[in-house]
Amino acid sequence: MEHPYKTRQGGATVTVFVPYDCKNHCPFCVNKGEYADLTGFSVEKICHSIDRMDAITPACDFVFTGGEPLSDLDSLQAMLDRIPATHRVFINTTLPVSEFRSEADILSFAERNRRKITCINVSRHMQKYVVESNDSLLARLPVPFRINCVLYKNYPAEKIAPYLERFRVIPGASIQFRFDYTATTPENLYDEDNDKILKDLRKIAVYTGLDGCRMRCGFHFNYRGMEVTYHKTLPYSTIVECDPKDGVTYDILYDILIKQNGDIHSDWTGIPLDVEAYEKVIFEPYDLRWLIKMT
Ligand code: SF4
Repeated sequence: MEHPYKTRQGGATVTVFVPYDCKNHCPFCVNKGEYADLTGFSVEKICHSIDRMDAITPACDFVFTGGEPLSDLDSLQAMLDRIPATHRVFINTTLPVSEFRSEADILSFAERNRRKITCINVSRHMQKYVVESNDSLLARLPVPFRINCVLYKNYPAEKIAPYLERFRVIPGASIQFRFDYTATTPENLYDEDNDKILKDLRKIAVYTGLDGCRMRCGFHFNYRGMEVTYHKTLPYSTIVECDPKDGVTYDILYDILIKQNGDIHSDWTGIPLDVEAYEKVIFEPYDLRWLIKMT
């Protein structure tokens, strides 16, 4: 660790990489390579790391991602069972249904964990990269859900409106479009003039405001009564900043990662977290705020 740690009140979000893969090959996936060799992957070690993070920040958010969290429901249950009710829990998934895992299996898993799961984030891209389950399954989920869609490179802009119509009829649906975060920089994070996605969305939806912080931002829209957000985030999650009050330079952490083998990282860029140092982390107010809010 170069500098002492700071993070926001409640603690940095802890993203857990499940120790098993998905069956997809999305072109923008930066995790796939890590699942090519499962040696050393361990539910037990991940659970141990969840315990350590819970002890330091008992109210942080946990996000399960992969791979595919729902492709091994027993393992996911074992990890979820380690997370006390003080945390919010999000699951990033494609909602995979197969001969080994039926819709009923997924629904009963969600029902069993209804009080624990804050939101299921379901990937549904306009260009079909993943094997999709039936949209009717979304409406039957007993927990809140959100649709995530990466608008990658030359996405078909003319298909955005039909795509939104597809989900608008599903009760409870909201959409989060995402910019390719490997292409996000501090310079283009808030740039509106040269952002093609923003321009395309403004043509078909009503802009309702912008929220953001040092690390990420969200442009909010209303599309015929459905909430739509366009989300951008930097490809790393540490801001190095000098606090003028004490003259100390801090590593300000936004995301912490628990890797498939239980290792804990302080960033997406492969840097190990100094857990003992994080036990002494200084908290600052979360700088996420409404920057422009339309009424
Ligand atoms: S479904 Fe997720 S983990 Fe699997 S290839 Fe696509 S982006 Fe990567």
